[in-house]
Amino acid sequence: MPPTKTVDLAAHPLTKWQGPLGLPDFASIGDGDFSAVFDAALKAHEAEIDAIAGNKDAPTIDNTLAALELAGEPLDHVSSIFWCRAGAHTNDAIQALEREISPKMSRHFSAVSMNEKLFARIDDLYQRRETLKLDAETLRVLEKTWKGFVRSGAKLDADGKKRLANISEELSSLGTTFGQNVLADERDWALFLDEADLAGLPDFVKSSMAEAAETRGQNGRYAVTLSRSIYEPFTTFSERRDLREIAFRAFTMRGQNGGASDNTSVVRDMLKLRAEKAKLLGYGSFAALKLDDTMAKTPKAVHDLLDPVWEKALEKASADQKELERLATEAGSNEKFAAWDWRFYQEKLRTEKFAFDEAELKPYLQLDRVIDACFDVATKLFGITFEEKKGIAAWHPDARTFVVKNADGSERGLFLADYFARSSKRSGAWMSALKSGYKLGNGSKPVIYNIMNFAKPPAGEAALLSVDEAKTLFHEFGHALHGMLTDVTWPSVAGTSVSRDFVELPSQLYEHWLTVPAVLEKHALHVKTGKPMPKALLDKMLAARTFGAGFATVEFTASALIDMAYHARSDAPAEPLEFEAETLEKLHMPDTIAMRHRTPHFGHVFSGDGYSAGYYSYMWSEVLDADAFAAFEETGDPFNPALAERLRKNIYAAGGSKDPEELYTAFRGKMPSPEAMMVKRGLV
Ligand SMILES: [Zn+2]
Repeated sequence: MPPTKTVDLAAHPLTKWQGPLGLPDFASIGDGDFSAVFDAALKAHEAEIDAIAGNKDAPTIDNTLAALELAGEPLDHVSSIFWCRAGAHTNDAIQALEREISPKMSRHFSAVSMNEKLFARIDDLYQRRETLKLDAETLRVLEKTWKGFVRSGAKLDADGKKRLANISEELSSLGTTFGQNVLADERDWALFLDEADLAGLPDFVKSSMAEAAETRGQNGRYAVTLSRSIYEPFTTFSERRDLREIAFRAFTMRGQNGGASDNTSVVRDMLKLRAEKAKLLGYGSFAALKLDDTMAKTPKAVHDLLDPVWEKALEKASADQKELERLATEAGSNEKFAAWDWRFYQEKLRTEKFAFDEAELKPYLQLDRVIDACFDVATKLFGITFEEKKGIAAWHPDARTFVVKNADGSERGLFLADYFARSSKRSGAWMSALKSGYKLGNGSKPVIYNIMNFAKPPAGEAALLSVDEAKTLFHEFGHALHGMLTDVTWPSVAGTSVSRDFVELPSQLYEHWLTVPAVLEKHALHVKTGKPMPKALLDKMLAARTFGAGFATVEFTASALIDMAYHARSDAPAEPLEFEAETLEKLHMPDTIAMRHRTPHFGHVFSGDGYSAGYYSYMWSEVLDADAFAAFEETGDPFNPALAERLRKNIYAAGGSKDPEELYTAFRGKMPSPEAMMVKRGLV
């Protein structure tokens, strides 16, 4: 055995950050360092937890709650660098470490939440909370911490704890099986076609189908697969109605084809276990358990949102269907309009109504100008400014560093951004923090970063974005602002530490400012001529946004309603798929539209717990952002200073320091109604 290297956490570059601007000194960090530093940092955190739990003094906020929140700084430091590298600049060594570190971390944190002595101290404070004269934020952190322990089973007796642990383990392995079964069905099914079968398909669809056939050993042919990125464009463009039907049936039956990969019994078992878990923890249903720490709070609140949207979506879809049927008849079809016709005729209608070429827009959206627009909007709304510091080495030479300053010139924190795709980066776009901002203890200034995957232009040329990419940049920057503007005491409620149905508000709301005319006039300048985007082009782009809303809203909301129907009952349905069919019938689901995700392949809900009783959140956030932006529109000024200040104080700066409903109401004066979202979607 090699000698154990001792790690000095007080001096190691992964845990003691001594680079420029207080960043880690990335240049002196080797991939080989992580493993030993993680082990040492986990041990150090464990010792801190033991010391807090074993303290002989009576529990106080300081010696227990604050000590717990501030414990584990070296672990936070090494983790934040590691997960940044794992996403934005990985390699084989980092990937191997990921597989080693994930289970270690999860064992470590479940041991903390099962620590009985520690919970006894938290519980003691919680029971005395009314007499402790706590400020509102501290009280909330105490309550959230206590609830977190309870939800992990801290109050159960030994048998209950054991059963809960078994349920969690079973659920997690069933979740894995569920996902693998869907993958197996998607992998094993392919419809091989030849050149003559491709009528209507654009080149980009043909080339991904050719590649899919090639990887399945059918060189020179074309494969329709059940990957959404092939299935959707195929059924949108293919003129072969018979093939669209075959693809549609296969796609909607994923996970329900009998045999080893069938998810019927997996779903049945999962719903039973979830209902049991909820009962064990004292909740009336699994939805009640999941929604307890969200903004919606109850299944009823979710229905108050979804039900009126559902009605409007059905009306809109039914009107749209008439128009599509007209097109089908004109095109010579005398078959009954079916689910595999919808995307096809909708695309025909789209070209008829909103023909414009994305390529016309791109020259107006230069990356550097869109970044300026993001910063400019933040300055106008919140008074903060951004100053780039060149020559700071971060995790990769493409990463850029900006000092964020308050209106009075004082330093607020750092913003790092890494915009271009490369093979060491995972796909997608995201925001995260190297450090979050809070005041407890010695305090901490936020160090926030954004990762994007834009195509890198040849040297000397400007990077150009599509509208969607520019939107993504604004979206992630909105999350970044949530991290940078944070103004709270306690680390556990800093920045984006808010509930799942509230966290997309700051990001989705920020997207609205991209299309504010004053912003585009100033920043959307043609890369060659420097001229602003013509009004006619802008109008077409804006009008096309609501097209197809009936279909999109019906397919989404049907899935969200089924998710709630499963989880809001106290028991589990005996036959989930029959229950799905009955519920859809009661909802008057049109037979010409399929759910976006049917039960046997509804990964959000059954591949793990992530969005179970939570698929509604996407629409919930949309209600919030549409209503919040409507507040600015109502004043006639998209930068209304008084409103912007309320927005900063109650949304972007407040983190999770108060109940989200209280925060939203403080900003807007009332809770949102779905009205603005339905207007934004074009449903009314
Ligand atoms: Zn987001």
